Amino acid sequence: MRRNRGSEGIRRMVRENAIEPQHLILPLFVEENLDARTPIKSMPGVYRETEKSIVDIVKQADAAKLGAVMLFGVSHHKDHTGSDSMRAGGLLDRMIKRVKDACPDTVVIADACFCEYTDHGHCGPLTKDGRVDNDATIENIGKQAVIAARAGADIIAPSGMMDGQVASIRNALDDQGFIDTPIMAYAAKYASCFYGPFREAAGCSLNKGDRKTYQMDPANGDEALREVALDIAEGADMVMVKPGLPYLDVLYRVKETFGLPTFAYNISGEYAMLKFAAEAGALDYEKAAMEMMMCFRRAGADGILTYAALDVARQLNK
Ligand SMILES: [Zn+2]
Repeated sequence: MRRNRGSEGIRRMVRENAIEPQHLILPLFVEENLDARTPIKSMPGVYRETEKSIVDIVKQADAAKLGAVMLFGVSHHKDHTGSDSMRAGGLLDRMIKRVKDACPDTVVIADACFCEYTDHGHCGPLTKDGRVDNDATIENIGKQAVIAARAGADIIAPSGMMDGQVASIRNALDDQGFIDTPIMAYAAKYASCFYGPFREAAGCSLNKGDRKTYQMDPANGDEALREVALDIAEGADMVMVKPGLPYLDVLYRVKETFGLPTFAYNISGEYAMLKFAAEAGALDYEKAAMEMMMCFRRAGADGILTYAALDVARQLNK
């Protein structure tokens, strides 16, 4: 076996997987009424962007030839339903327009959910007993998706794990003439503690409770395949597994079973582990990030959503 590993040239020749900038998708946070971009403490190197500075960073993503950017709003207009995200002129609408105006060729993925816009932090309005109202949420998510598509979003990515959300979005988009807008479904999204830093970043920590009634139990693998099958039947064009690293087995099974364009979300906690380990001198951030990306590719990911996207692309473009 060692003969095929004898030199960099031979290793390169027999390498089974490759990572290119187009495989990387950069998630970005946009906060309204913010004077200057603000560092996120739990995610070194990641910022809350202003509605102006977002353009600079998307231009960097464009120049680095990343596959896409995904936008998350940090709202100052929160209410019970997250209505700001369902109205023209709201943050969701404005940030997508701003990015598409500045970089029309950049693929913009709109995260479709309500947790960044609700005052209680859940992914949809609550019933009297404090649970998320699934059916009210999927009606609203269709409205939100149309706002995003009308603003210029190239792909709609529902992340709330509500039953029926993909079908609801597909119907709403088709109704309004957005028949060519694809849906990237967060098909298998787990109730993970690795989201911690994201909640700080997006300002969507829960007042009380957890997301276990709608996000998946980390103990389950077969259930992920049922979730993905349902989303595909409802019209998903691409699927995602989230989180990434602790769920590579799920990613592999999803890609093997369905063969759709399949994405992994290398989430905030995974990024933070790398950054803080590097700061402590325990490992080399650049090498570790590159290895991680290659492992996602080996496990079957067509693309990776990662906060390290620009760092990895810079290494690749060197
Ligand atoms: Zn959510």
